Amino acid sequence: MAPITQPRHERYDIVFIGGGSGGVAGSRRAASYGKKVAVVESTTKLGGTCVNVGCIPKKIMWHAADVADKIRQAKGYQFKGPGIGEPQFDWKAFKPQRDAFIRRLNDIYDANLTKEGVDYFHGFGSLKSAHEVEVRGEDGRTLTLHTDYVCIATGGRPTIPSDAQIPGASLGIDSDGFFALAAQPRRVAVVGAGYIAVELAGVFHALGSETHLLIRHDRVLRAFDPTLSDALGGWAAHTGVRIHTHSNVVKVEGVRGGPLTVHTDAGEQIEVDCLLWAIGRHANTEGLGLEALGVQMNIKGEVVTNEYQESNVPGVLSIGDVQGRVLLTPVAIQAGRRLANRLFGPEKYRDDKLNYEDIATVVFSHPPIGTVGLTEPEAIKKYGKGNIKIYKSSFRALYFAMVPEEEKEPSIYKLITAGPEEKVVGIHIIGMGSDEVIQGFAVALKMGATKADLDDTVAIHPTSGEELVTMR
Ligand code: FAD
Ligand code: NDP
Repeated sequence: MAPITQPRHERYDIVFIGGGSGGVAGSRRAASYGKKVAVVESTTKLGGTCVNVGCIPKKIMWHAADVADKIRQAKGYQFKGPGIGEPQFDWKAFKPQRDAFIRRLNDIYDANLTKEGVDYFHGFGSLKSAHEVEVRGEDGRTLTLHTDYVCIATGGRPTIPSDAQIPGASLGIDSDGFFALAAQPRRVAVVGAGYIAVELAGVFHALGSETHLLIRHDRVLRAFDPTLSDALGGWAAHTGVRIHTHSNVVKVEGVRGGPLTVHTDAGEQIEVDCLLWAIGRHANTEGLGLEALGVQMNIKGEVVTNEYQESNVPGVLSIGDVQGRVLLTPVAIQAGRRLANRLFGPEKYRDDKLNYEDIATVVFSHPPIGTVGLTEPEAIKKYGKGNIKIYKSSFRALYFAMVPEEEKEPSIYKLITAGPEEKVVGIHIIGMGSDEVIQGFAVALKMGATKADLDDTVAIHPTSGEELVTMR
């Protein structure tokens, strides 16, 4: 359905600025309570970062990379025939197919808003006051929505150095540019050490690009448990990802679209066809009128909210990436739904709010990582070294029994417990299947499981997950 051009209500109960994970989920939940709800989205593609340039197309590329690995490993399972052992990925053919799937999702998001009775306006939203949202269309025309509440759900975008900071930096692309690549670069340099850097470097490498990963310090994923970052860094290097540690880009030369020469402060000159910046993201708060209204933002430009997603200005709320706490899709979704429950739902939801503690997360690396709770350094800080106990198991998933030694991916599972009752306070796992295994164990951790509870759970055999209930 096309977005509507005139307000259907004189006054809305709530207007969400941003039609991404948080805005769509929150608006649908609010409308399900019979409220008058609008969503304002500046692009023509509903679904935000996750659907268009994030989780979904990323996971599809991760699956493509996984298929490439399986084609390589199929020899070990005695599959014969043309192509076995040597994956040939046709990026040019795959991209339009992936894009078509994303367009279908955009349509589904649109249909879901309609089904729920949410008014969807296409345009750039900003606040004229705490109760008036201006929507500016591409033709410059504006309309004003009057509302009780405004929820800022405008997400964020990739950070990329300026050419003044690093000459030639703009010759590189960011993660949005990754999803726009029509063809596979033969050689690529990825800068960064977080989620996006390791995920996209992993995809490039598995699909056959010569891949350089440039990191400022000595390890990837420094915020994660050291066991995970060591294992991932070690395996990536073993498989041929060229990791350049203590390496900062100082200059980029070449032409847009490559080839490029990437100069580092370690004196290296790396020749590539594509440079990808994955050095973090920042909030979309420009042009929203927040300063004029006195909405408090932190030094990074993120909207500051309390535990109920409220800003310091009554009636102005915020959810998702733009308020800078745990930048994950399910977090934005839950924050939006719980906010709508609290404002408009039945009495039992009067105090509903998202608990930002112990949120499980997965890195779709090769191999994948699953993690929930405190890292070892965090647990030591909180409980003291003498009060925590670590359980660790290193193994190879059974699948790798049939593949050559040098291709057997490691699995490492680690449990951190605290106190004499051995309450489980951290679970950190890497290895095949970790992305799926962690969800259930996150429930156990949230419920306050102890080591004895895990021991009392009979294992499922043969799986990797059973390691977590059989540790000694
Ligand atoms: P967004 O989804 O970014 O939505 C914000 C929307 O607001 C956008 O559609 C934008 O166009 C719109 N907007 C902005 N300003 C205005 C304005 N003034 N007026 C109107 N509209 C406006 N998370 C996971 O949980 N799992 C993953 O595997 C995962 N992978 C990721 C991979 C990548 C490459 C990236 C970049 C992110 C990934 N994330 C992942 C994070 C996830 O995408 C975000 O946490 C999530 O999309 C945040 O939702 P949001 O609603 O806060 O913002
Ligand atoms: P992250 O914050 O995860 O990582 C960025 C990393 O880049 C930093 O940790 C830092 O690592 C490094 N860095 C920062 N500045 C520079 C610089 N100037 N030069 C070189 N390196 C630098 O950000 P991402 O962009 O990877 O992802 C953004 C968020 O999106 C994530 O935090 C996550 O919440 C979400 N996301 C989730 C995914 C998932 O759920 N699977 C997948 C992708 C994104 P160091 O300090 O070690 O140098």
